Amino acid sequence: MVQSSRIDELNSSVQFCKGVGEKRAQVLAKKGIKTVWDLLTYQPRGFEDRRTISTVSTLTGETSETLVVRIIAHDFFGRQRFGRFRNVLKIIAADSTGTVSLVCFNRNFLQKLLTVGDTIILFGRFTRKFNEWQTSSFEYEKIGNENNIDESSPHMRRIVPRYEVTKGITESQLRMIIFTAVKKICPVIQEYLPSDMIDRLHLPSLSKALYHFHFPQSEKAQEQSRKRLAFDRLLMMQLVMARIKHRLADMHKGRIYTKKTIIQKFEQSLSFSLTTAQQRVVQEIITDMQSSHPMNRLLQGDVGSGKTLVALITMLFAAENNVQSALMVPTEILARQHVATIQALINTFPVRAEALVGGIRLRERKSLLTDISSGAINIIVGTHALLHNDVAFKNLGLIIIDEQHRFGVMQRAALHEKSSHPDVLVMTATPIPRTLAMSHYGELDISIIDEMPPGRKPVKTTWVRDTDAQGIYDFIRQEINNKQQVFIVYPLVEESDKMELKNAVKMYENFRSTIFSDYSVGMVHGKMKAQEKNEIMQQFSDGSIDILVATTVIEVGVDIPNATIILIEHADRYGIAQLHQLRGRVGRGGKQAHCILMTKPHITETAYSRMQAMIKYTDGFKLADIDMKIRGPGEFLGTRQHGRVVPPPVDLLRDAAILKKAREEAFRIINDDEHLEREENQALKKQFEFEIQQHEALSGA
Ligand code: ADP
Ligand code: MG
Repeated sequence: MVQSSRIDELNSSVQFCKGVGEKRAQVLAKKGIKTVWDLLTYQPRGFEDRRTISTVSTLTGETSETLVVRIIAHDFFGRQRFGRFRNVLKIIAADSTGTVSLVCFNRNFLQKLLTVGDTIILFGRFTRKFNEWQTSSFEYEKIGNENNIDESSPHMRRIVPRYEVTKGITESQLRMIIFTAVKKICPVIQEYLPSDMIDRLHLPSLSKALYHFHFPQSEKAQEQSRKRLAFDRLLMMQLVMARIKHRLADMHKGRIYTKKTIIQKFEQSLSFSLTTAQQRVVQEIITDMQSSHPMNRLLQGDVGSGKTLVALITMLFAAENNVQSALMVPTEILARQHVATIQALINTFPVRAEALVGGIRLRERKSLLTDISSGAINIIVGTHALLHNDVAFKNLGLIIIDEQHRFGVMQRAALHEKSSHPDVLVMTATPIPRTLAMSHYGELDISIIDEMPPGRKPVKTTWVRDTDAQGIYDFIRQEINNKQQVFIVYPLVEESDKMELKNAVKMYENFRSTIFSDYSVGMVHGKMKAQEKNEIMQQFSDGSIDILVATTVIEVGVDIPNATIILIEHADRYGIAQLHQLRGRVGRGGKQAHCILMTKPHITETAYSRMQAMIKYTDGFKLADIDMKIRGPGEFLGTRQHGRVVPPPVDLLRDAAILKKAREEAFRIINDDEHLEREENQALKKQFEFEIQQHEALSGA
């Protein structure tokens, strides 16, 4: 088969697979299965060992056992005997050697699903009771007609894949579709990895891997297949990163930075001196910017380590050399705050910084845009909209992304395509374990601020039950009487959840009118108009509000040094990364600060371990490691926070070694053959382009 037709076939709609029509294609699309390739790589959620099928006469009752039986009758029983379980449905099923009873507590709906005459595979724990074999915890699967029951069935006498399905398709239907597709395609599918790589890394062939990914002969074969497919995913991602790195080395931005007196002048104007770590990363950044190639750097530093200041110095350096900077932040609150901070710090310098955000008058906006395009504004702060809205710059040369969680590698790659080949600096406060940094930011150089400004006292963290709230409120009053300020955070599962928001507002009303009626209480949440939010933040910032009740909009970056308490309600609903971010809102002045995690008296075990981790550790990197262990990297990265998560079947916790290999291979290939032009890389090139195309289709780019 020629290469291009293979790709076309894999890329063609799943609709053309046997057993899938237009309707089912729509159903499968809900599970992300759109192409034949999606179908082939659809990850089983688990496996069930059905290599041996028992018969009723040979049931042992010792372990879970599998039967193939036919439904022969429905029965109801237990009106008196079972008390609250009145009218218990009992389904009688049989094979040629005897009958079993399926006792369906609270599952009367099964009467409709399992009709007399159906053949099912029954998997469960059987016990001998009342002189019959019974099972009440069982799983079953309908297998249409008995003709399905032969040796080559995908449903039995093998290690059987279990799939997540959705309304409109049953698990056995999907399994049959995958089985048919795999049997048809695997024998003819063409390998895309170069053969020397397959040999060197002892990988199973693509054909074998795809087959055993779904229908393995052993657990080991399945794991090897999963690893091969995981390797492929990671290799593709790393190829993208390797290519970006390589391309940047070839790009010349044509900007020359000759002056740097402003840096020293600025540092002298500060009331404190930079930490050693800040000095080091500033130097790393300046060196990048002076090079003729675009900078592409990640700046990691825990909450409060002083990243904003580093960003500002970088932007001043650009301004002195007549280069404009864009500082992008996730929320407009932050944009305004940053600009206020920056303006205060540079008011004696001939540098102009402005925020371009919503809620400003049209006239003012127009004049800002004019000044941006004339170059009169040196530093422009805004949200990501800055780049989408076609703001015309005179000479944009530096893009800084603060607290970026929503940018994926493709979006970052797109930044460099801008005509000016800007220098890009990505800043994050989420400490990232090494493996994750490699998989998500693998094309970036990394700088780390591993030191806090002096004089910080670690925030004291406690966990309290909401039944002890009165004591906490007293403590808060005491602290406010000492002229301190307080955050109270009320989590919303979704900022758009109306019920939740109502609860938060109710709680705020209660604080304002009753519990803290002697104090000034304000509230911000995501549904408020930008202007309203800004006014409240301003009042909190200048001290006219004592207590700020907030949903998670304050999560990132807000800087109120006078706040010494953060009380987090329903703290068990947050992950460690978020709790750590929230905690970072306090402890920014010199005073002892407190983080109070409030929950219901009883919380889950994992929530409990999160609370304990928060109490014990203040170091973000340590917490990130623990978080990964508790939740696994998939969740740790959560789509909301990090854009695209590594797709299955990659499991970063287990696959660190695979990632390393994939990275080495990708960088080696691109070093030798940047455009994948060599004969032995042709198949890989096709697959690579195919996957990029799929990715772009996914992200709507
Ligand atoms: P983050 O890294 O979380 O963005 P910020 O840049 O907001 O941290 O800095 C937190 C606080 O620390 C700010 O109030 C800032 O002025 C202050 N700060 C930054 N660097 C220093 C330093 N070297 N010495 C003392 N305070 C500093
Ligand atoms: Mg910050």
